Amino acid sequence: MKKKILAIPIILALLASTLWVYGSGQLPASTPAKEEIIDPEAELAPLASEKTSIRYWDQIEEGQIEEGQIEEGQIKVTATPEPVEEATPKPDRYAVFLNAQKAEVRTLLDQDEWFLEAYPLLEYFGCVVFWNSDAQTIAVNTRDGILGTFKIGEMEVFVNGESVDPGFPALIVEDVIYISSGMLDALVDLDGIGVVEPNIWIDKRFETGDRNLQVKNILLQTKLPNYNPLNFTDYLAFQEQNPDLPADQVILQVNIGVHKEPYLDIQEVADPNGVFAVIDKNHKLDSSFKPTDLANYGGYLWKPEAGEAWLQMKSDAKADGLSLALNNSYRSIADQTASYNNKIRTRNKAAVERTNSRPGHSEHHTGYAADLTTVKKSNSKVDAWIAENSYKYGFIVSFQAGKEYINHYTPEPWHIRWYPLWAAEVMHAEGLTIQEFDNLYLNPNAHGFETDAERAIEIAERSYSKPKDKTTVASVVLVK
Ligand SMILES: [Zn+2]
Repeated sequence: MKKKILAIPIILALLASTLWVYGSGQLPASTPAKEEIIDPEAELAPLASEKTSIRYWDQIEEGQIEEGQIEEGQIKVTATPEPVEEATPKPDRYAVFLNAQKAEVRTLLDQDEWFLEAYPLLEYFGCVVFWNSDAQTIAVNTRDGILGTFKIGEMEVFVNGESVDPGFPALIVEDVIYISSGMLDALVDLDGIGVVEPNIWIDKRFETGDRNLQVKNILLQTKLPNYNPLNFTDYLAFQEQNPDLPADQVILQVNIGVHKEPYLDIQEVADPNGVFAVIDKNHKLDSSFKPTDLANYGGYLWKPEAGEAWLQMKSDAKADGLSLALNNSYRSIADQTASYNNKIRTRNKAAVERTNSRPGHSEHHTGYAADLTTVKKSNSKVDAWIAENSYKYGFIVSFQAGKEYINHYTPEPWHIRWYPLWAAEVMHAEGLTIQEFDNLYLNPNAHGFETDAERAIEIAERSYSKPKDKTTVASVVLVK
């Protein structure tokens, strides 16, 4: 049975040195107040500051306080304590053991509750801890496959998405993050937790089965900048569905949303004029979007850099004896709406969607994309030339064979999109779609969480150092 750590009470000396008249002002937030009923004639003068009493009587005269608020000639006065001084860590030390390895954890006594230093404690339970300083939020990925998140000072912990009451919010004192025993309990799902005063004893038994090794493989990838602790449970689910997929691919594919159905989790494109904007079945342009500075290049509308690159590529291909031509380039959202609606009226919708975008979801809206006519006719010579050379001009074939699971389109060797040369070279060399390129090279740490990658790897390695053991035990013991 689960026992709770007993709180060791302390007496907080709260001095009532100022007075505050009930109903006439605001108490400082979260400062405990002590109420007294006093006789105004006899006691207001000696108790209240001159300023307070003047303010009170002024309000009576101005009618801001009604007579009814005074009970039988008494004034309700609230004594406000001095602000509680910031708690400071106590010198006590807890020794934390995990499979006989020992570390020390700082402790803090505040609000009659023992708080324990979050980082080493959670890490010795095999958790990897991530910190987002802007959001003041912590994410914890545990060896049991739990994703825990909580915010400093807020009374809520999310454990695999479900809200749990930890009893006390996490604190930061002198740049050290502390959590209560209740929060530790919620995060690592303790099997047994108890206290024998003055020693605190916490025991956690870990199973080390296949799933735990899977968790380890994912946690070892925390060295990747695109590892997102908030996707942890999705990584695990996706790895279970795809047991042979390497963990770094699991992370990449979940990050770019491969596990989501097309058109079911649509987000608006944040930078629609950006040359790297990801526009696909789950990323949509606003219906009023029209790219800036479109211009005519050889009879087709392009963004200028892309239009110039197209003319250069066409000219160089001609020197190689190949004639390149376009079917289309820029297409407005209105045109796409008409075309899409027309097609689904007369044809099978699922078939239409394998080769056509819904309005707002097409790269043609950007002015950076075009369809080649010659390639569409399956001219293998042109096909091969484009596949081999177009990146030298910045053009990448968007929908390539083998990447249907990302973009959900039938391969289209004729659909090209322009990128700056350096990016096109990387995408070509590594065979990346824009979604993959964006996550790996442009926007890897968009979630804002940081961790010490080397330390995270060490934790994952250490926590699983004996995978054949039935259990390992972590414990916390107060050392005097
Ligand atoms: Zn196209």
